[in-house]
Amino acid sequence: MNNEFDIIKKYFTFSEMRDDIVLAGGDDCAIVSPPDNKQLLITADTLISGVHFPENTSPEDIAYKALMVNLSDLAAMGATPAWITLAITLPDVDDTWLRRFSNTLSETLNLFNISLIGGDTTKGKLSITIQAMGFCEIGRELRRDKALVGDKIFVTGNLGDASIGLKSIVEKLEDAELESCVERLNRPDARVKFAEQLLNYSRCAIDVSDGLVADLGHIVESSQCGAQVMLSDIPLSSTARYYFKRYNNNDVDWELLLTQGDDYELCFTLNVDKESAVIEMAEKMALKITCIGEITEGDKLLCVNNKGDSVKFYSSGFTHF
Ligand code: ADP
Ligand code: MG
Repeated sequence: MNNEFDIIKKYFTFSEMRDDIVLAGGDDCAIVSPPDNKQLLITADTLISGVHFPENTSPEDIAYKALMVNLSDLAAMGATPAWITLAITLPDVDDTWLRRFSNTLSETLNLFNISLIGGDTTKGKLSITIQAMGFCEIGRELRRDKALVGDKIFVTGNLGDASIGLKSIVEKLEDAELESCVERLNRPDARVKFAEQLLNYSRCAIDVSDGLVADLGHIVESSQCGAQVMLSDIPLSSTARYYFKRYNNNDVDWELLLTQGDDYELCFTLNVDKESAVIEMAEKMALKITCIGEITEGDKLLCVNNKGDSVKFYSSGFTHF
């Protein structure tokens, strides 16, 4: 038997559940009791086969990424994740695929103490929508509209690896040295733990999902300020450097690195007197953070190269339409 109720029971009913859940699965809604003194933060993201991941992506990577892109949105605002719903559209019932998807989803949820509390299961082209919910202290969230002139701009991790990973798949480079970039594409790390601490020091962050130019652009627009980024300060992995050396005449392709997206790192701003505390906090978590520029007067995002020239970008980030 393989109706949707069997699928839900077999693959989307997990035993480990948070104790703030009143009712999950089996009724028309789930019921949860959020903590009294906190505010709820809610987000949703869809991954569509052939659009957000190549069609041959493994079910493990799809499950992992579908969850992580949502956790990255919660991290961007400093929320601690608690619950998700899953709306999944499947072309057919493939038990092996479902088992592998479900195992990775369940394992990854457990790592963050998150419970799957409901969803929807339908037939059609493969598509996964996760809605994630979390909470933070009232009024303490990180927002796009809170950057202040003089703030330093930081990013976590390295930028652009995922764009190189995707290029290496699309262009069938089959270069084992680029494996870590493919890994960054398929297995992004939402910066949840760091973000939970960051809201003690900052008011302003965004996650880099569409490329730094687009996402820092959102901060600039929402905060009604300008920003200056030094390209030479953008953190690149050694694999990214290898890629440009081997495949691009040693020329760094900023357009690729900063407009392609899928980084799922955080970009945040800090008042200068919070800088050393946050650097120390990141060190304790063994997370690399890098200052890449400063919030300025005006309304433009300038990316400046070694010669002091501002670089133009043709694409302003991934868009669907
Ligand atoms: P309804 O028809 O009332 O919307 P559904 O048949 O869609 O109910 O779902 C039945 C129950 O199973 C609901 O509690 C729903 O939240 C849950 N559910 C459906 N699909 C999923 C899924 N993919 N993951 C987790 N729970 C699910
Ligand atoms: Mg339904």
